[in-house]
Formats: sequence, C-alpha cells, structure tokens
Amino acid sequence: MTIRFDNVTYRYATGKGGLSDISLEVGKGELLVVIGPSGSGKSTLLKLLAGFMEPQAGRILIAGQDIRGVSAQHRDLGIVFQSYALFPHMTVLENIAYPLKLRRVGRDERIERARNALREVGLANAGDRLPGTLSGGQQQRVALARALVYKPKALLLDEPLSALDAGLRTDMRDLITHIQRAANIATIHVTHDQEEALSMADRIAMIHEGRLLQLAPPRELYDAPVDTTVAAFVGKANLWPGRVVSPTLVATAFGNIECVASAWQIGAAVTLLIRPEAVMPITDDDGQGKGPRQEDKQPGRPINRFNGTLTQDRFLGAVRRYDLVVGDGVITGETGYRGIISGVTISPDDVRVLPA
Ligand code: ADP
Ligand code: MG
Repeated sequence: MTIRFDNVTYRYATGKGGLSDISLEVGKGELLVVIGPSGSGKSTLLKLLAGFMEPQAGRILIAGQDIRGVSAQHRDLGIVFQSYALFPHMTVLENIAYPLKLRRVGRDERIERARNALREVGLANAGDRLPGTLSGGQQQRVALARALVYKPKALLLDEPLSALDAGLRTDMRDLITHIQRAANIATIHVTHDQEEALSMADRIAMIHEGRLLQLAPPRELYDAPVDTTVAAFVGKANLWPGRVVSPTLVATAFGNIECVASAWQIGAAVTLLIRPEAVMPITDDDGQGKGPRQEDKQPGRPINRFNGTLTQDRFLGAVRRYDLVVGDGVITGETGYRGIISGVTISPDDVRVLPA
C-alpha cells in the first residue's frame, strides 16, 4: 500500500498553524520520517491521514483511493502516539487483541494473533500483565504490537520514543525499523530528534511552519540541504553569509572562501554551509599536539586556511567540538584529534553554497 498527499492544506480555526499545500508519497514498505520543530505541523499531517479531521484543500490517497469521508476506523491504519494510550484495566494480551475484537475476529484467532504480535516485539511472556506494571519502553512495545496486529494498511508513529530515555530509545529505533521491514508496511514516523530521523529513515520530510521544505534520503538532506533552515535543523552547521565573487569564490567575514564551481550569479547574496566534521585542524607533524606545523605539505597557495584562537573546547568522547575565533567570526569544528589546535583548513569540496 502507498500513501499520497496531493496539495493538502489544513488551517485550524484559530488561523494559526496547520499545513500548506503538502504533496508527498510514501512507497510500499517505505519508512518516511517527518521532522520539523515543535509546532511545525507534523502531528497535523498524521491526524489528517488518520481521519481525525479532513483537509480543506487537496486529497489524501491510500493505495490510490481518495479517503475523504472514510471514518478513522475504516481507514485501517496502525497508530502509535507518544503517550501509550493502553487500556489500564485490560491485560497486555487483551489490549493487543482489542482491535481484532472491534473487527469481529473470533476469540481463538484473536488470542493467537495477539500472542504472535507480542512475540514480535519481544514480550512473549508479558501477556497476562497489566500495562501499569510495565516500563515505558515495554508499554510502547505493546502499543506497537496493538497497532500492527490487524495488519493495517500503513503505520503512523507520532513521536513514540520521545518519552523514553536515551539508551532505550536507540533499542526501540532498531526494533521499529526491524518490525517495519519485516511487515513491509508503508510507515510515517514523526520525530523532532534528528539523529533518530537520520538513522531510521528511507527518506526524510522536513516540515517548517506547515510547509514541506525538503523530501530526500538522509544523506542528501544532510549533505545537500535546500536552505539554511534545513541545514541548521539537521546536524550542526557553520552558516556564513557571503557574496559570490567568482564561480569558485565567495567573499565572507572570514575572507574569500574557495568552493567548487557553482551556478550562482556573480554578486548574489548566499550562505555558505560547512559541517563541523569537514573543518580540519592543522596538526603538528608528529601528532603529539605541540603546535601547528609551519608549512602546508601541499605546494602552492593555501586554500581556505584560517588561524585563530580556541575559545570553546568540548570533549564529547568520540569527538571534540571546538570554536575557533578567526577575526570577528567563529568556526565550529569537530575532530578526534586531541592535540593543540590553532588553525583549520576547509576543503572547497566541503563548502555548500545555499540561498542567503
Ligand atoms: P507538531 O506536531 O509539529 O509539533 P502540530 O501539528 O501539533 O505541530 O501543530 C502545529 C500548529 O497547529 C500548532 O503550533 C498550533 O498552532 C496549531 N494547532 C495544533 N493543534 C491545534 C488545535 N487542536 N487547535 C488549534 N490549533 C492547533
Ligand atoms: Mg506533534
């Protein structure tokens, strides 16, 4: 089954918030992750798909069928929200079997299917327990089993991991992607956690103020964001205002920056994007960190080379994130190098030219 939004618009009666002209498609078996800041319209997108409200313009199609007017229950979608919303007075197994009961599946088959779903989420022995006796992560597994037990047409997940602590969250990411792949079910997973999005998604849809800014595979979104909003939301970013002086040169507060040839007009106002891990510290030759080496190994003019003063130096374990003050500007870099840093270089290949 596929999901398609065609020019979908929804405005709340207050006049604030909602979605504007959203078009996107989720392929069969695809895991689409929707990201965006709080209030950008992510949950609105899921609520429209789930049938809690109808778009004011545009169409939503499931498996090619316009679903306008189809009740939420008859849309046959599996939904998991941040709050687990399990029935507290029913056992885990009864909770999972409940959607089957609604669909008038016979008792023996209900129990059989609920047991299988419970096994899939790794809770085979918890069927007789009450939800309140389970941890948050376990309850979210039960919610996932309940969403999948009736073989829904698609799976909708609205920040299901945001209430869990960090370690559990990564485990649950893996479980969700594993189950989603096994069920080969079109899935929309909403999160504001960029690492979760990058690690789980086949493609990511970035929404901002109700508009779809970019829809792309994780690497493309990270390496080639369409604008500064996407660049700043996904990953860390150095964003420098500049003006194009030649096809391969942009004037900035840091001086002229070499980049690979771009199609920008001479004189155009742009923003340069440089990811912190692309900022290379100038290291001393013996790697002991006693100071920067005096000469570049490469002959010719040094390119995008800056000397400055380290103001922030944060040890994060695997990497170190530092701020190098260069003139009036600050360059943020990330490196595994532990020696003294008094300068950096940036390869022209690692400079992206974005709209101002
Ligand atoms: P997100 O899930 O991205 O945080 P939502 O889709 O829940 O954002 O909401 C987007 C915006 O729409 C909110 O900031 C708010 O202005 C508005 N909104 C959401 N739900 C309602 C509602 N029930 N009534 C009125 N306005 C709402
Ligand atoms: Mg939300």
